[in-house]
Amino acid sequence: MSRRLQVYETDEITVTFEPDLCIHSGVCVRGLPAVFDVRRRRWVMPELGAAAEVAAQVERCPSGALKYRMRSTD
Ligand code: SF4
Repeated sequence: MSRRLQVYETDEITVTFEPDLCIHSGVCVRGLPAVFDVRRRRWVMPELGAAAEVAAQVERCPSGALKYRMRSTD
């Protein structure tokens, strides 16, 4: 059974997480522990980092489980 896509948003960025793709490398939680913290029920909190920083970390996800898009501010 496939698990649901998770969506985490701020005014600046939308981060999505596809649980079925995650290979549990830990790259995200080591790279930006304030934003990615698996001990929290809501484990991705993009509002706790700068949007550009969150985006850069998402790009380091080796599996493609994490993705992002910048939200238009106009
Ligand atoms: S970096 Fe990507 S593959 Fe690694 S634990 Fe985070 S979401 Fe999963």
